[in-house]
Amino acid sequence: MKDKSKKRIGGARRQNRFAAPGRAKAAVFLDRDGTVCDEVGYVNHLDRLKLYPWTAEAVRRLNRADIPVIVVTNQSGVGRGYFTEELVRQAHRKIAAQLATQGARVDAFYFCPHHPSAPVKTYRVDCRCRKPSPGMVEKAAKRFPIDLKSSYVVGDSYRDMQLGFNIGARTALVMTGYGRGEYEYHRHRWPRMPDLIAENLLEAVNRILAEPAPSAPAASRRTRKRKSR
Ligand SMILES: [Mg+2]
Ligand SMILES: [Zn+2]
Repeated sequence: MKDKSKKRIGGARRQNRFAAPGRAKAAVFLDRDGTVCDEVGYVNHLDRLKLYPWTAEAVRRLNRADIPVIVVTNQSGVGRGYFTEELVRQAHRKIAAQLATQGARVDAFYFCPHHPSAPVKTYRVDCRCRKPSPGMVEKAAKRFPIDLKSSYVVGDSYRDMQLGFNIGARTALVMTGYGRGEYEYHRHRWPRMPDLIAENLLEAVNRILAEPAPSAPAASRRTRKRKSR
């Protein structure tokens, strides 16, 4: 059978956390710069946009597992007046087109153009969408039936991990972009560690897909009890 989601736990193939036929299911939220494409500072021209060579394979693997792939990115460069919202949309169309040539698909892109001290007045807001606030995820959750608790946030900065903590999801830090520097030099200050640390997006996806399904409610009650002793 091709549809792995119909296999039962304990069957020949282990069910992963994303198999939840007919119900809200886990999604993978991806940061953009430093995770999906090269972190170059601000992408203020499409020429600066470069997908990592492993991105298409990583996204394709999620697509094949029927897992919604949702990009959530802070683009305060808009509020700072460096580039327009239209340029951000063009960048996302370019990412989508490049991925499409390799058989991979992002289900939705969300971006936050705001910054609390943006010089462009209309963008100078303490918004709910700037990561680590959950606004972009909340928007996605209105559009797709997503179970946030079993979802993952993957990113190269601790702010992405905080987004994951804020929405009650699991978190994966990648060592691309700002990842290695943040991990090496700042992790002693982190109040909470990411659930997973991976060299890059492909390794993160492979490890996420290999995780077993979260335990059934009865089993997790037992686990909690054992932990509290
Ligand atoms: Mg980033
Ligand atoms: Zn915003």
